[in-house]
Amino acid sequence: MSLVIVGSLAFDTIQTPWGRREKIVGGSCTYCSLAASFFTAPKIVGVVGKDFPPDVIEFFQSKNIDTEGLEIKPGKTFHWEGHYGHDPNQRETIKTEMNVFENFRPELPASYRTADIVFLANIDPDLQEDILSQVSHPALVAMDTINYWIANKPDSLWRVLRKVNIFFANEEEIKMLTQEANLIKAGKRVLASGPKLVVTKKGEHGALVFGKNFVFGMLALPCEDVVDPTGAGDSFAGGFLGYLDKVGSLSRKDIRKAAVYGSVLASFAIEDFGFERFKTLTNQEIGARFRHFKKLVAF
Ligand code: AMP
Repeated sequence: MSLVIVGSLAFDTIQTPWGRREKIVGGSCTYCSLAASFFTAPKIVGVVGKDFPPDVIEFFQSKNIDTEGLEIKPGKTFHWEGHYGHDPNQRETIKTEMNVFENFRPELPASYRTADIVFLANIDPDLQEDILSQVSHPALVAMDTINYWIANKPDSLWRVLRKVNIFFANEEEIKMLTQEANLIKAGKRVLASGPKLVVTKKGEHGALVFGKNFVFGMLALPCEDVVDPTGAGDSFAGGFLGYLDKVGSLSRKDIRKAAVYGSVLASFAIEDFGFERFKTLTNQEIGARFRHFKKLVAF
């Protein structure tokens, strides 16, 4: 199968109880594609400025990430600043600077247009819709978002939602989008608008995957040291969709396994700042943590 991921490539300024990092490479597309690269060869769509480090693009390529859809434009790369306190589930966005994303209207390369799985990672929902319209007959379309877009473009978001099969959102976002205080009610409202599955990420409490007649709860790995929670959600989606792309199946059994792989990849992402941990991560470590998860939830 083949997986196309559209999302942000960013400079992130991050502050957590573990320290502060200025303008390190992040972005929804970065985390998601790196996580997916442990299972498949994702194709990415995004834009960066001339200030984006070429060695990071080379690193993507060394991980079998197809960068044909990545544009390098004059100007500055998207910049986001977020702060976390001692509760890693609570973050505050300090700054969002669109920069080269402002006028980004990509034309998908020919080899991307026949993708089987499309992931519309966190990015402007109008862009998500535009890009989706360029893929001919995807078997699976998933999307994610962030509260910035829920606050600024709710109508566009609901329009894209009607066209997707899986909606990934964290608990706070799905409640904000639907204006429901109860998670199940919020999920049902989203299901009523189109998606067959809602994957609600609950940070250190794991994730809940549910559809009309399907529910699967997944623990997050209990972790003492959450160094940087940024990208956990995108890494979850990358592990989840990368695994589905690899096995070429959408059976319920594989959806459950995909959620476990999502949690495994997220659990690695938060162990260090930025995508640092993905530089050294091996398939052996992923396999060992998958088996550990299995023990954790068996009874
Ligand atoms: P996550 O922690 O998985 O929800 O995603 C964090 C990533 O989202 C960071 O690396 C940011 O660069 C990126 N991000 C933050 N705000 C936005 C936005 N408004 N649009 C696109 N990407 C964003």
